Amino acid sequence: MTKKIAVLAGDGIGPEIVKEAIKVLNALAKDGLDIELEYGLIGGAAYDETGTPLPEKTVKISKEADAILLGAVGGYKWESLDISVRPEKGLLGIRSELNLFANLRPAILYPQLADASTLKPEVVAGLDLMIVRELTGGIYFGQPRGIRTLENGEKEGFNTLVYRESEINRIGKVAFDIAQKRQGRLCSVDKANVLESTELWRETMTTLSADYSDVELSHMYVDNAAMQLVRAPKQFDVMVTTNMFGDILSDCASMLTGSIGMLPSASLDEDGKGMYEPIHGSAPDIAGQNIANPLATILSASMMLRYTLDEPEMADRIEKAVSFVLEQGLRTADIYSDGMTKVGTIEMGDAVVAAL
Ligand code: NAD
Repeated sequence: MTKKIAVLAGDGIGPEIVKEAIKVLNALAKDGLDIELEYGLIGGAAYDETGTPLPEKTVKISKEADAILLGAVGGYKWESLDISVRPEKGLLGIRSELNLFANLRPAILYPQLADASTLKPEVVAGLDLMIVRELTGGIYFGQPRGIRTLENGEKEGFNTLVYRESEINRIGKVAFDIAQKRQGRLCSVDKANVLESTELWRETMTTLSADYSDVELSHMYVDNAAMQLVRAPKQFDVMVTTNMFGDILSDCASMLTGSIGMLPSASLDEDGKGMYEPIHGSAPDIAGQNIANPLATILSASMMLRYTLDEPEMADRIEKAVSFVLEQGLRTADIYSDGMTKVGTIEMGDAVVAAL
């Protein structure tokens, strides 16, 4: 049956990197992958054309699709807009509209890139970590929020960190299920010593662990987790954490692997439908120069085939092709080191297609 993919390229380098991932998917389509693509606007590009960062049409095609491939949103051009119509609102909005509450962010170090990490090769070589981030709750969505003026005329900004037991339970289940399929170790990250909402997080994870006797659950405060991620990242198998802590820790984990340009991510709903995107942003500093690394987006397409479209062999082919081009010494600027061959965005995409 034909699988529908909604393609939302977004802003900055978004259109360039998504184009390369589509090239890869189209190459697989010639070998029998049955897909249909439908394009939609999101972020600044959508605001410019329609006055909103998340047009209704985009929500409609995303809801109708089996999976969504997203580039990135945001850029200098839209920074002075009111927060309600900023590009990032489009992204938060689509996650919320589709109820994509579970964000899977793998940090895998390709052996060929051990030198590209800023950490010593022995600290990161062989790293294979999965961060599971709660995506539709917590302080990014909590009410009340805003900026108000106090009686003395001073302004005050405020946000609310709130988690319900049911929200913690459903993200916990996703993380325990993933840990069961990996090495069976789950580290739940919180700040239970200071924040009541994460005290409940810790209690709920502990209660849930009774249903998963084959998974070893540990708890860690987020400040320690940040330190441990750089000190000895291989101690972790799966980490599960709140929206904001996961946002920060997964960017930190990405650098362990050499470049933010290498890491894909999946955001899933309760039925396994998902939106797939690189973890990096729209990189306006390098947009339009054919130097962005498209591999995170190409690997996002591979995750989409594996987790939502049930095409694990096609996913394997992409991952092997990526490994092969790295083996050949091809590098975009962000992962380049002496002795390697520097290539642009388009050339990297072409090389992956050739390696398929
Ligand atoms: P960023 O991830 O866009 O860029 C951080 C740094 O990494 C930059 O130096 C950039 O050039 C580099 N980089 C990122 N992706 C790369 C790639 N594929 N290849 C090579 N280098 C790459 O983060 P930022 O600079 O903090 O944010 C820029 C814009 O992106 C902002 O408007 C921000 O709101 C937005 N943003 C969007 C998302 C998203 O769409 N999911 C996520 C984060 C930030």
